[in-house]
Amino acid sequence: MRETVPVVRVNCARCGGWDAARVVTTPDYELHIDAPFEVSSCRGCGHTYTSLRPDRTTLFTRFYPGDYLCYGGMSGVAGLIDRMRRDGQAAERAAMVGGYVAQRGRVRLLEVGCATGEFLKACRRRFGWEVAGVEPNRQLSDALIREGFPVVPSTLEDADVPAGQYDVVCLFNVLEHLWDPAYSLKRINCLLAPGGLVVVELPNFASPSRRRFGKHWFLYHLPRHLSHFTRQSLAGLMEECGFEEQGVRKQFRPTVNVLSLQYAVHDRTRSAPLRSLFSARNPALIAAGIMCELVQNRIGDSNILTAIFRKTAPVPAPVVSLLRERTP
Ligand SMILES: [Zn+2]
Repeated sequence: MRETVPVVRVNCARCGGWDAARVVTTPDYELHIDAPFEVSSCRGCGHTYTSLRPDRTTLFTRFYPGDYLCYGGMSGVAGLIDRMRRDGQAAERAAMVGGYVAQRGRVRLLEVGCATGEFLKACRRRFGWEVAGVEPNRQLSDALIREGFPVVPSTLEDADVPAGQYDVVCLFNVLEHLWDPAYSLKRINCLLAPGGLVVVELPNFASPSRRRFGKHWFLYHLPRHLSHFTRQSLAGLMEECGFEEQGVRKQFRPTVNVLSLQYAVHDRTRSAPLRSLFSARNPALIAAGIMCELVQNRIGDSNILTAIFRKTAPVPAPVVSLLRERTP
C-alpha cells in the first residue's frame, strides 16, 4: 500500500539547473514507506542527487526515528558489540586524521553529524585536540553537552559556528544526508582556517555493488541519502568549493552487500524461510558478505570511500544556496 508522504522536486544544488535524467526510483526499504523517491543526474554538471524527496520537515521528523541505525541505542549483547565496533572505528578514524595533522601543534576539529560522539572522544583522549560537534538530533547533542563536549544542536546549514576557527572538519557518512551539499561545503570552507582539512567518508556511486543490485543497493538509502558521489564527482564539487584532494581510501563495509541482497530478496518474495535465509541476521550470509567485500575491494571500487581535501582558496562571499524546490 502506498503511504502518502509530502514530496518535493528539487533542482541541482551544484549548478542550479533543472534539466536532469532519472537514474532510479525506489521506495524506502528500511521503514517500508512505499512512496516513490527518485535519483537523477544533472545534464548540466553531472551532479547526481535525490530529485524527488520528502519535504524537509517530513524527512527529518518521519525518516530519522529515535532508533535509526546510526544513532546506536541497541541493548544487550548486540548493543555491546555495536559499541565496540563504533569505538574501534572511531580510533581508526582518529589515527587516520592524526596522520595528516601530526606536524601541527594545536588542532581544532569540528565533526559535522557527530551522533553518539565516539570520534570526538577518541580525538580528545588520544591527541588532546580541541574538539567540537554539530548534531541535529537533540537527544544525542544534549548527551554530549552533558559530558562536556561543545556541540551545537543543529543542522550545519542553521548552525551558528565561528568562521575561520577550525583546522579540520570531518563528515563521516554525513555529506550525502545534507539538504544542500554545495552550500554546506562552501560554509565549511568559511569555517576552516587557511590550509585546513576536510575529511569526507561517503557511499561510492561507482561501486560495482550498485550496478549489481540496482535499486536494491543499500547505499541509495532513499530518501535519506540526498546526494550520490563518485570519487571524481566529489573532487569536482570540492574544487568548486575551494578544496584540493589529498588522498582517497577504500573502506571495508561487508554489511552493504548483505543488506542489498536482503532488500532484493524481500522485495521479490513473501516466503518466510527464504526471507530468513537472505537476512542480514544470518551469520552464513554475513560470512559470504565479508568474502565478497574483500574480493570487491581488492579488484575494484569499494562501497564506501574516505577522501581528504585541503582548503586552497576561500569561497567568494556571500555564500548562497542554488537549491530550489517545487511541487512535483
Ligand atoms: Zn548541475
